[in-house]
Amino acid sequence: MTRRITILGATGSVGQSTIDLIARARDSYQVVALTGRRNVERLARDAVALSAEIAVTAHEECLEELRARLAGSGIEAAAGEAALIEAAARPSDWVMSAIIGAAGLRPGLAALEQGAVLALANKETLVCAGALVRRVAARAGARILPVDSEHSAVFQALAGADMDAVDRIILTASGGAFRDWPAERLEHATLAEASCHPNWNMGQRITIDSASMFNKAMEVIEAQHLFDIAPERIEVLIHPESLVHALVGFRDGALMAHVGVPDMRHAIGYALHWPERRALPVERLDLARIGQMSFAAPDEGRWPALRLAREVMAAGGLRGAAFNAAKERALDGFIAGRIGFCDMARVVETVLARMEGDAALIDGEMTLDNVMATDHLARRRADEAMTQRTG
Ligand code: NAD
Ligand code: MG
Repeated sequence: MTRRITILGATGSVGQSTIDLIARARDSYQVVALTGRRNVERLARDAVALSAEIAVTAHEECLEELRARLAGSGIEAAAGEAALIEAAARPSDWVMSAIIGAAGLRPGLAALEQGAVLALANKETLVCAGALVRRVAARAGARILPVDSEHSAVFQALAGADMDAVDRIILTASGGAFRDWPAERLEHATLAEASCHPNWNMGQRITIDSASMFNKAMEVIEAQHLFDIAPERIEVLIHPESLVHALVGFRDGALMAHVGVPDMRHAIGYALHWPERRALPVERLDLARIGQMSFAAPDEGRWPALRLAREVMAAGGLRGAAFNAAKERALDGFIAGRIGFCDMARVVETVLARMEGDAALIDGEMTLDNVMATDHLARRRADEAMTQRTG
């Protein structure tokens, strides 16, 4: 039986790895929708190759080009946020959520509302609106499967265990591009330096977030929501080799580790075939050749992002949405050369502190409207904070 599938963010790093797996078994899948943004050439090429029903670009100005590239194929073309949500709402069995940033929230919710399995790479969905997303999934009877490699590893290490038997979850972090840099040098890290990951080949934004540890900070919040576990039971462990992706500690002292090569097609494929395990085109590890693996405690002084995430989880409310939005704007600022590498965490901290003055909003009910209002306000506050820094 063919499965109907949709890939949100199909033109990105995770989206392309998903397509790689789908393309190897074309007859097993009926592709409903593929979405992207500016890379219309790639979007159209894949839509044709996979005979998608519809291709959507998030960028309205790209619609003409998308139409032209799809002319004669019989594939629908659409553009804009509403079209993206409409595509996500089309009946599908499995939807990959691989848009980057808070822009992935609404399409992901639409997919859950129609009852699809949501393969979640977009961690921002849970960072911004964890409680809301869980509520929507429960109401629709829809399942969320983790795709973030650490969370897929936890999910696999749990293997149906009762959460009552779990003491702790340990997420590993490579330490990113600047793991071995002295702290003083971090201030002067350039965009090019921050855009290279030692082990993983990913999109630019998440690569920089790995260097600043914001990625891991977001992943701790993501784990809290995915596994319904208290924040103090989630640990971060530096593991430069990126071979152990996560560990689960059980109350009897056992630690179950997930070990594998850093290739997103493993986590994507696990979510695609779950609850089965099928053959995947990933390299097999030769541990005897590797010989050693190393681990170290993270230094929260060096990486304020981890401390900020802990504060966000402790205070709760809508602070996750503020944290993510401020981080996204600060990252835009770093990419644009407006602020330095270490300023990103300073901007986020400033925004979170200022937003304590908006208690009616950030301690309000977690509705989609309130999440979006918090997101917008935090972006504005981040812009103000960056203007103050740069004059
Ligand atoms: P990417 O930048 O390579 O791709 C992002 C995709 O989202 C592209 O298809 C792009 O067209 C689309 N997009 C960008 N902005 C958009 C917007 N405003 N509206 C609609 N679509 C938009 O990103 P990526 O590295 O593939 O990451 C995607 C998500 O997966 C992120 O949430 C990231 O944190 C998560 N993730 C990625 C990896 C990885 O290996 N790359 C690993 C774990 C988790
Ligand atoms: Mg990850």
